[in-house]
Amino acid sequence: MIYLDHAAATPVSEKVLKAMTPFMTENFFNPSSPYLPAVRVRAAYEEAKNQIANFIGAKGNDIVITSGATEANALAFTAISCSEANLLERGANLRKNNGSTPVKSPQILVLETEHASVLENAKNYDYDTIKVDHTGLIDLTDLKQKITAETELISVSLANNELGTIQPLAEIAQIIREERLRRLKKGITTPLLLHSDASQGLALMEINVSRLGVDLLTLNAAKVSGPKGIGALFVAHGVRLKPYINGGGQERGLRAGTENVAGAVGFAKALSLIKGHQSAARKKYMRLVENLKSELKNAKVEPIFLGSSKHQLANFCPVSFPGLDAERLIFMLEEKEVYLSTGAACSASKGEPSHVLKAIGLNDAEIKGSLRISLGTLNNEENIRKAGKIIRRAVDREFERTSHA
Ligand code: PLP
Repeated sequence: MIYLDHAAATPVSEKVLKAMTPFMTENFFNPSSPYLPAVRVRAAYEEAKNQIANFIGAKGNDIVITSGATEANALAFTAISCSEANLLERGANLRKNNGSTPVKSPQILVLETEHASVLENAKNYDYDTIKVDHTGLIDLTDLKQKITAETELISVSLANNELGTIQPLAEIAQIIREERLRRLKKGITTPLLLHSDASQGLALMEINVSRLGVDLLTLNAAKVSGPKGIGALFVAHGVRLKPYINGGGQERGLRAGTENVAGAVGFAKALSLIKGHQSAARKKYMRLVENLKSELKNAKVEPIFLGSSKHQLANFCPVSFPGLDAERLIFMLEEKEVYLSTGAACSASKGEPSHVLKAIGLNDAEIKGSLRISLGTLNNEENIRKAGKIIRRAVDREFERTSHA
């Protein structure tokens, strides 16, 4: 098979599996138990947390281990619930003082192309979306215009999961710092936080939370050859979250439940295998994507390569063959054991047109003909050359079938 859907899932590497196995077999102990073998398991868990946090320039205590990026995103948004409580309190005080001051609603701004796990959580709050340009890049003017004195959280992914578009987080953080300063001068105490979902991009970028200027950062093991069902949320000092899974008080009371030790150890190992190799990986994928594009350009339907390689994850090659039906192409490719998708695995399975492709202004024919190709550890020169030819032939066959229909 040739696997071209690393944005959806990545294979757990042998080394990761080997690191995890003892924590499901001989070292199965509950890290909260009092006897020595369990204390050793606790130490291994804390060490894994340290390694995960160090990868993004943070400390073990700064992260909360979660069941994945969806949960980390949901946890990040509880920052709003905290300040909502503050606002309610303030509103109540104001009402007591002068009669009828309404409580202003908290506000979240999210990029319109965010993953469903961000967008669906935003819907629990008063939220607005920030526009993107035709390459999926944030419209900073729109962001500036939409920030009000009530905006409390801005959520912009590090890189988009359908286009691979990398967002200028440091620039966004600077805009936020300026707004905080304005608030300080006016005596406005409403906090303003920056959250970023870094599920995509973790394997190819050198990430440092201080340099990025983020207050909350979502991590996802499943996209970096780690196990599924484990992720983490970085929480900057001073950011208050609401415990939303209550129980035994694990993860500083923010996320109760017996720790997924094997998962955390696997995640840490996966990151240790990436560390220091991001630049070489970027070069490798850039070359492979270039080869793939050259082959696809020979197809009988002219491809539109989506996004812009100026600010795109090197392993992404989203492409549209306008007029063709990408679903049919995927079935044809499946017969040849070439696996790729039309968009995010979750929205593709719902059969809805991608909100990301709509947001960048593609028309219906362009959306219908769109494939998401994302390379990764299972790809090399040879299988990409093969895949390119197989995809081109499938496109040509579909073109001929539709033009004779
Ligand atoms: N955020 C982004 C950008 C993703 O690509 C994904 C996975 O597809 C998720 C969140 C959800 O991750 P998980 O299913 O591990 O919770």
